[in-house]
This record gives sequence, C-alpha cells and structure tokens, in this order.
Amino acid sequence: ELYNKVLELKGNIRVFCRCRPLNAEEMTSGARMAIDFESAKDGELTVLSNGASRRTFKFDAVFGPQADQADIFEDTAPFATSVLDGYNVCIFAYGQTGTGKTFTMEGTEKARGVNFRTLEKMFDIIKERQKLYRYDVSVSVLEVYNEQIRDLLVSGNQLGIAARRLEIRQAGEGMHHVPGLVEAHVNNMTEVWEVLQTGSNARAVSSTNANEHSSRSHCIHCVMVKGENLLNGECTRSKLWLVDLAGSERVAKTEVQGDRLKETQNINRSLSALGDVISALATKCSHVPFRNSKLTHLLQDSLGGDSKALMFVQISPNEHDLSETICSLNFASRVR
Ligand code: ADP
Ligand code: MG
Repeated sequence: ELYNKVLELKGNIRVFCRCRPLNAEEMTSGARMAIDFESAKDGELTVLSNGASRRTFKFDAVFGPQADQADIFEDTAPFATSVLDGYNVCIFAYGQTGTGKTFTMEGTEKARGVNFRTLEKMFDIIKERQKLYRYDVSVSVLEVYNEQIRDLLVSGNQLGIAARRLEIRQAGEGMHHVPGLVEAHVNNMTEVWEVLQTGSNARAVSSTNANEHSSRSHCIHCVMVKGENLLNGECTRSKLWLVDLAGSERVAKTEVQGDRLKETQNINRSLSALGDVISALATKCSHVPFRNSKLTHLLQDSLGGDSKALMFVQISPNEHDLSETICSLNFASRVR
C-alpha cells in the first residue's frame, strides 16, 4: 500500500500544511496574499515576501484555501486504520491563533473536522471487522493550561475545578497514565458526539473569555482502543491522541506581565518541548526530552517506537501575518 511505503521512507512522522482562506474582513480591506499556490509543485509551498523574495517549503502534503474538510480527511483516514491495527497515533494542529487549528480538528457542525471524522472512520472499520475482531473504545477529553492538566469530562461543580488537577504517573516500563481521568466508554457515533460536546462545553463555561482561553491552552482528546482477535484471542491496546495546540504566536515580553507572562512562558516552553521531542524522534536521537513539559510527558508512550504522528501546520495567507507564518513553517521544517 502506498501509504505504508511513504511512512517507511520518511519515518513515522508526517507534516501537512494547511492554509486558511482570506476571511471576509481581509477581503474587504484588500489584504494581500503572501502564499503562492499556483506555481508550487505537489507538497510544496512558496512564500512571497515584499512581492519579491520567494522561499519554498516542502511537506508531505499542502492544502490550500480551497481544500475542504473531506479533502483533508482523505489523507488523514489511514491513521484511523493504524489505531485499530494496534499502533499509537498522535495528530496535532500547530499554528498562530486564527489560522484554523480548531477548524481542522473540531470543525463545525456543518463541516466536521478530523476528530469526528477519525472516530467515524474507526467505527466504520470496527463494523467491517466485526466477525474477526472485537473492539472496546473509550474517550477522555482534557486540557493542559499553564502546565496543569484538567479533565473536561468532569464538570466543575461536581467536584470543584481545583480538585480536578491531575498528575501523570508511571505505572511500569513505558506506561504512563493519569489516575482519576474519566474514560467515557463509547459504542457508536451518537455517544462520541455527546462526549465531544461535553468536552467543548466544559471548556467554554470554565473561562470568562472562551476564545482567549482556548488559544492559550492545549485541548486534547485521547481515544483508547482495546482490540481482541476473535480467532486467536490476541489482544492489542492502542491510543489515538488528537491535539489542538495553544496558539504559537510570539508575545513580546514587554507587553505582558504577571500571570499572563507566566502563561506565555508555559506555552512557549511546551511548544518548543514538543518540537524538540519530535525532531529528536525524527533524527533518531538517543535522548528524547519527554519530561520538559506536561504535554510531551503525557504523550510519551505514544510518541516514538512504532507510533505514528501527524502534524498539521496551520497558516494564514495574509501578508500581515507573514512573520508568524515563517516561524510556523520553520518549526514544521524542523520536525519533519
Ligand atoms: P485557531 O483555532 O487556530 O485559533 P480557528 O479554527 O478558530 O483558528 O479559525 C479561525 C476562523 O477561521 C474561524 O472562524 C474558522 O471557522 C475560520 N477558518 C479557519 N480555517 C478555515 C478554512 N480552511 N475554511 C474556512 N474557514 C476557516
Ligand atoms: Mg482554536
């Protein structure tokens, strides 16, 4: 299969770049595009600065403003099969706030994203395989904010938000877990949808400014799968992590103080830790610095080894966002 060949050649990390369209406001104000999709070859993206200098970046796939959710999912669907085959999979959305991380992962009711579609695909495959395998699927929804883990499937007033700060424990060789984290058992897409909604509602009600909060925290869905081969009794356990990362935009230290400064430093630290871990894995470096952030520590068992990772690097086409766009593309080139 073509997909496996690609993974063999490039290791288990793939990077897709997605550029959002100009929005209505940018259109009316006559914003200029800094990305050239016309002349680029497959998997290439050309950035134009000052209308003159050109720089080309290469990815496993590039999705321009015309690509819809179904196009994106076509190239993402093989990961759903991998999870059911027993592989751990991590899918990340990285980029500046407003570039479409949440649109790609969560999507909207009319244009569902990777989270929903991947689970839907998994349930389709489970049905196809039902004579040969039995699967058990559960979902956790959590958030990492300021290096603290919060369970989004437990509502604040049930236990008190402060009481729900969770820690990562190591249970044995390579076995990390989060004691107390709710794992909601799901049997079908109706139940999955309910769980996803509960998670996003919990995220929204816990903060005074939901948009701002979501751009400052990592939102994580973990899908845990137990598989049993009905012919030989062999069992597999695997995890799928779906991660909508905090905004990668750089905030000038002179502009923020106090709590906001600490928050900014935590975001920078965890995103650079993620970059360090993925590039260490990509270059087969012997020391992989998982412990440098809650996020990488949490994902430790599911990154590396024969796990598979997919990073969506989300960018804006607007010339005004060019310096952030270049930063994101550089980050992505480093992990690939
Ligand atoms: P982020 O999570 O990175 O901050 P959002 O996903 O919230 O960004 O996207 C910002 C806005 O742009 C939203 O209104 C979203 O619906 C819209 N948007 C993002 N990407 C696309 C796209 N590819 N097509 C259409 N609208 C998009
Ligand atoms: Mg978002």
